Amino acid sequence: MPNPIIENERLSGARNYDPLPVVLVRGEGVFVWDDAGNRYIDMMSAYSAVSHGHCHPVLVKVLQEQAAKLAIVSRAFYTDKLGAFLNLACELTGFARALPMNTGAEAVETALKAARKWAYTVKGVAKDKAEIIACAGNFHGRTITIVGLSTIPQYRAGFGPFPEGLKVIPYGDPLELEKAITPHTAAFLVEPLQGEGGIIVPRAGYLKACADICKKHNVLMICDEIQTGLGRTGKLLAYQHEDIQPDGIVLGKALGGGLLPVSLFLSRKEVMDVFTPGDHGSTFGGNPLAAAVGKAALEILFRENLIERAATMGKYFQEQLRTLHSSLIKEVRGKGLLIGLEVNDSYSAHELCLKLLKHGILTKETHQTVIRFAPPLIIEKEQIDTVIHALREVFVEAEKELA
Ligand code: PLP
Repeated sequence: MPNPIIENERLSGARNYDPLPVVLVRGEGVFVWDDAGNRYIDMMSAYSAVSHGHCHPVLVKVLQEQAAKLAIVSRAFYTDKLGAFLNLACELTGFARALPMNTGAEAVETALKAARKWAYTVKGVAKDKAEIIACAGNFHGRTITIVGLSTIPQYRAGFGPFPEGLKVIPYGDPLELEKAITPHTAAFLVEPLQGEGGIIVPRAGYLKACADICKKHNVLMICDEIQTGLGRTGKLLAYQHEDIQPDGIVLGKALGGGLLPVSLFLSRKEVMDVFTPGDHGSTFGGNPLAAAVGKAALEILFRENLIERAATMGKYFQEQLRTLHSSLIKEVRGKGLLIGLEVNDSYSAHELCLKLLKHGILTKETHQTVIRFAPPLIIEKEQIDTVIHALREVFVEAEKELA
């Protein structure tokens, strides 16, 4: 029987998503509950936005108290919350400057605008010639400029024309970067590990080689840490698995503590200082509610050792996934608690996710063949064991169907 809540949403909602047939009504920690009272382990955590767990009590308290005191004012005025948030973000990441936005895509746009203006005003690139280089398989968001960098046909089809000065190179090969750089190149935008692209981990040394090439050619290296940052891969920032210092990063998702959209572009002083009043902004970016929650979200990462937890639980989870030994599994890969399980073509990853749903595990496939596991970083060993148990059963069921 069709669920009336689903039917109701479909009545007037745009069809730009295709959700699994489950209606969630409550969340707590790693768990969510549906409208019939069934409990699930959330292995998606809102595409990594719920790293702290659903409705973290400290974050909810900060949100409630700040909402009751002062939530939003125009950036035409100072508030007592923004400075403390930005200072902490800079102190923790080692960048000199931070610019607050809301969604990830807005922070990426901010980074690209900063890079272009830096190219004209500091590097000396000729007017309207600045180029941005990104990688095939990237995911940086959904604005027109950003999908102009995408190599996924569906993300682009019907949305052109795209801005000029966007180049795409294969991911994982530093020589391709060196070949693509011209005197007009402003920035190289890269995910330290591609999340939406299918949990693609580049070989060790890739980021270091890219950083050296960018330095040699006076090109900004900007790491998109929206999904990989804030502990997800077992380091505060995923680029820290290598000894590099990019010129800028973008953060989002978990920065909002699973409660609000909060994003940041962080960079060296020379890059951010290209912005002057009126160049760029956002009505909601840096509002006191977001700043209070963002600061608390950063503090909790350290207070609750979530970064170390991602490293140890991620290692345990990957080890357990490797014990599954199903003929349907092609590869297990990832870092920390950002893990992909790739199945071979004989069975659809989407069908496996539907089966997992029935076993009380919520996740979704990416790129048809990869099942993504990105649970809240607070996940416990026993909960991982429950997921592994469910996976074992689901693979046996699927193998039987194929036999
Ligand atoms: N960059 C990366 C690496 C992402 O994974 C995402 C979202 O999945 C984005 C940017 C876009 O973030 P948002 O959906 O908040 O605009």
